[in-house]
Amino acid sequence: GNDSCTDTIELSEVPSHVILFDDIENREDLKKITSRILEEFHTPFKINSRQLSLTVSAGISVYPENGLTSSALLKNADSAMYYSKEQGRDQFFYFDNSMNERVAKRFAIEEQLHDALSNKEFEVYYQPKVESSTGCMVGVEALLRWNNPLLGNVSPEDFIPVAEHTGLIVPLGKYVLEESLRNLSDWRSSSVKAFHVAVNISPNQFRDTRLYDFIKDCLIKYDLPYDSLELEITEGVLLFANSCTSEILNRFRALGIKLSLDDFGTGYSSLSYLKEYPFDIVKIDRSFVMDMETDSNNAKLVAATVMMGHSLNLKVVAEGVENAEQFELLKNMGCDYIQGYFFSRPVNVQVLSDMLLSACPSIEAVARES
Ligand code: C2E
Ligand code: CA
Ligand code: CA
Repeated sequence: GNDSCTDTIELSEVPSHVILFDDIENREDLKKITSRILEEFHTPFKINSRQLSLTVSAGISVYPENGLTSSALLKNADSAMYYSKEQGRDQFFYFDNSMNERVAKRFAIEEQLHDALSNKEFEVYYQPKVESSTGCMVGVEALLRWNNPLLGNVSPEDFIPVAEHTGLIVPLGKYVLEESLRNLSDWRSSSVKAFHVAVNISPNQFRDTRLYDFIKDCLIKYDLPYDSLELEITEGVLLFANSCTSEILNRFRALGIKLSLDDFGTGYSSLSYLKEYPFDIVKIDRSFVMDMETDSNNAKLVAATVMMGHSLNLKVVAEGVENAEQFELLKNMGCDYIQGYFFSRPVNVQVLSDMLLSACPSIEAVARES
């Protein structure tokens, strides 16, 4: 059952506290003290026989450089603390002026994000995924685009974290899933029968226990086979995993939905995640593909990842492929699928539909099978 899923304790929203020092001589001492405080919180403590540990994010403002009044000092310390949180928690930062701009931008995004879905400001774009042995497009990755009247085009790298933080990612994620499955069903019936779509799933979406049923119902509604959907998961999902995460992943897997480990190689423990969770696909991060034609170390890491993936019976995708040299190298290494500007940038549904009409021969062959 799902009982094991209900005991998640949410500690990320513990309110912030203020510590005031009036006898610090220099920044070096301040640094020592702050480091001590952060370290102290690493010791796990027990509540009702459960071990809990906390991470702390700290922001520091110094009188008189960062403010002459208590309210200015507090506000700036707050900005620095938000900055630390964004940088990945468990750190501290001194305030500087650029932080206020970032915080202001973040608040503007948060404000505008509220009604963006109901105002229909979002659109799903699709980036082709190409089979390297044939050069044929076999599927797409769904990527969210946001155009806001006030802020213009906002990058998902800026608004996804805010949507995560505010919980808006849950309805937003449902929108992406529904929209891309609806389009997929059109493409499969009109052009390519074996086409598939990959959708990115954020950590907070996994906390929503209804995600599984939503996805299952959606696939049934559009009459799609379960294996036509791929879920792309980053380490972020697994870093905050509980017993529930692996249970949900196993349920998806049992249904036939494909699971893909995104941004492989960038995190702390990608390898152990491949062992622990039921992945079908690994996506090599763009940072390794980027200069593989000039940087032989990157090329070796990519080649090793392809081999490792295959020995674990995984399909391997390389992302961020920008030129023919990279494509040739990857193809020779036996990398199964390729994604990147070399083939196409992410495009809207209309452009993708047109691309499918002039698809390569083997794609037409697949289509005729139906
Ligand atoms: P990602 O999942 O790693 O997606 C790949 C990103 O690389 C996309 O950026 C894509 O446009 C970009 N890209 C693709 N090919 C190339 C290339 O050849 N060169 C370069 N330089 N870049 C390339 P985008 O669309 O800005 O998305 C950024 C991130 O935002 C995504 O990274 C993903 O983590 C997140 N994201 C986007 N859409 C969604 C969504 O619907 N849900 C969730 N949860 N996250 C999303
Ligand atoms: Ca992705
Ligand atoms: Ca990625």
